[in-house]
Amino acid sequence: MLQSNAAPPHLQGVLRQYELVDRVLEYDPQANEALLNRAYVFSLHAHGSQKRASGDPYFSHPIEVAGILTDLRLDDETIATAILHDTVEDTVATPEEIERIFGPSVARLVEGVTKLSKIEAQTESERAAENLRKFLLAMSDDIRVLLVKLADRLHNMRTLHHIAKPEKRRRIAKETMDIYAPLAERIGMYEFMREMQTLAFQQLEPEAYESIARRLEQLGEAGGNRIPAIAEGLAGLLARGGVEAEVSGREKHPYSIWRKMAERHISFEQLSDIMAFRVVVDSEEECYRALGLIHRRWPSVPGRFKDYISTPKRNGYRSLHTTVIHAENTRVEIQVRTREMHAQAEFGLAAHWAYKDRVRADHQSSWIRDLVEILDTADSPEELLEHTRMAMYADRIFAFTPKGELHQLPKGATPIDFAYAVHTDLGDQAVGAKINGRVVPLSTVIENGDQVQILRSAGQTPQRAWLGVAITGKALAAIRRSLRHSERAEHAALGRKLYVDLVERLPAQLGQDALAHALKRLKLADEEALLVAIARRQFTDAQVMEALMPGSAGADIAPAPQASAISIKGLTPGVAFDLAGCCHPVPGDRIVGLRRPDAGIEVHAIDCGVLTDLADRSAAETDWVDLAWGDGADGAVARIQVQVKNVPGSLGIVSTIIGAHGANIIALRLDTRDARFHTNTIDVEVHDVQQLMRLIAGLRAADAVNAVERV
Ligand code: MN
Repeated sequence: MLQSNAAPPHLQGVLRQYELVDRVLEYDPQANEALLNRAYVFSLHAHGSQKRASGDPYFSHPIEVAGILTDLRLDDETIATAILHDTVEDTVATPEEIERIFGPSVARLVEGVTKLSKIEAQTESERAAENLRKFLLAMSDDIRVLLVKLADRLHNMRTLHHIAKPEKRRRIAKETMDIYAPLAERIGMYEFMREMQTLAFQQLEPEAYESIARRLEQLGEAGGNRIPAIAEGLAGLLARGGVEAEVSGREKHPYSIWRKMAERHISFEQLSDIMAFRVVVDSEEECYRALGLIHRRWPSVPGRFKDYISTPKRNGYRSLHTTVIHAENTRVEIQVRTREMHAQAEFGLAAHWAYKDRVRADHQSSWIRDLVEILDTADSPEELLEHTRMAMYADRIFAFTPKGELHQLPKGATPIDFAYAVHTDLGDQAVGAKINGRVVPLSTVIENGDQVQILRSAGQTPQRAWLGVAITGKALAAIRRSLRHSERAEHAALGRKLYVDLVERLPAQLGQDALAHALKRLKLADEEALLVAIARRQFTDAQVMEALMPGSAGADIAPAPQASAISIKGLTPGVAFDLAGCCHPVPGDRIVGLRRPDAGIEVHAIDCGVLTDLADRSAAETDWVDLAWGDGADGAVARIQVQVKNVPGSLGIVSTIIGAHGANIIALRLDTRDARFHTNTIDVEVHDVQQLMRLIAGLRAADAVNAVERV
């Protein structure tokens, strides 16, 4: 058997092998002694001459961690795991070696703890959430992993002051406060929780800690230490009432005092309950009798009585809590519980687990279920904070980059979200994704723990379709920003064509500063803004021309859509007419007139829907006029609806085709857009229906165009 009888001189002060083994045998005579011995020697050799920040041999750390766990009376495998917990991470030892020497069960536990340790190397922003996830994953494997990790963290906190870098100390302390202490609380390990909080608080708020500690000290000096006196009085009261009880008292620890001060916005002087007493009795019945005696003797503070015996906390905690007014301005908090409840309150599930029959695999699953439930739900107000934290992580998933970088995302996130989480550029250029090595659509929902690789192309830009695929604010904002940008560029290109056209229609050459003046008049920032505004028809042609060349918007500009060139047969000369806005007839269309009482004649295309509607009404209400285009009728505005593919430049292609057919765009409106297409209504000025039909055919032939309809 492996044995190291004499500790080398550099290991002075470290718990010796036989001491550790004896401790375990004391509470578990069946413990596997050989396993513990092998672990001790293996760890000693593996860590060799490594040193901790304190200058102590590194080996002292895992042994101390194991020592902490013997206080919890944990089984031999857990103790062995504690001894070995840093060997894979920090030494040349391999998981295979551990498995070969210590068996699969210990190997699995060590691997679990190693995994938890790896995350401590993560970047700050990812660490907290990541820790929690790993915890949850690890715990669903085996709660002993968590117990070892908590003991590991507790020992690291105890030796935190040896770490030289203040930022590192702070980071560790904050992590302890945010993640480990609440976790210890969650599984009912209040003793761990309190010590972690005290140590972390000391690090994070050194001044607050100092001042509270000093105040407590001053208070003790001024009034003498009242705790023994109060405890004695309490014990006497209970004894006279026939309840045999162990009474102990303590000052609340500085962190809980500080938190109370912060929560209630009160000063230390106003804080009246800084002492807490614990009454431990033999039976549940005696708990209630003790409570009765206490409440008869001192007035209880309303709202502070809690019966966690009849209604235990989710983590299994049971006790009676009350606060009484012991003397003027002195409130004391009293917890009443049985011995068994006490053990569980201090060491939570661990105690339960250690005191009950040794829990084997079959029992363990129910423990895990309990634990998951505890982590899942919190129903008492004081757990709200932690619950919120938990809930926050419950709907998160974690995914890795191929390099192992971790990103947390909301549930339902897709590779688009992931890409934007990594880098905006990566998001913008994403063309595809691989999840766990397999090519998947960008709309695939990422699962917890997936490895996601984004395939990128420099030519890619965000697609409108992505708006329906991404769910994170960051991705959505970036996609919208990019779409706005490319839409603007497209509008600017279209606007330029319209602008050139418009300038040609001006009565004179444009002066040098004309554009600058026009921008000022139209209150636009720059030329691009003008072009976009023109494309979007925010101004009429006349307004733009007037701005460019004041006085020009007179008679000779702006070929009116209904030019005088239109002549229509069948109308009484001089009668006013309008080409209907619903069907936009152009020369060549079969037309019909509709007489409106005060509005002259409306000229409709014969198949216009308005006419169909009117036909259903009584004849008296309608007054039809049979019309035909006059000879040489030329020029009218037709309205077409164009559905283009949702790709950059498609609108530009449309305007080019329209121009190439000798037609003018008069107005353009974006109607609908979805992932694949956007639909625009475009008013085009054409000579006649033949030209319009050629134009429509030309548009339909274009790849960028999906559909064209005359409205
Ligand atoms: Mn460690």
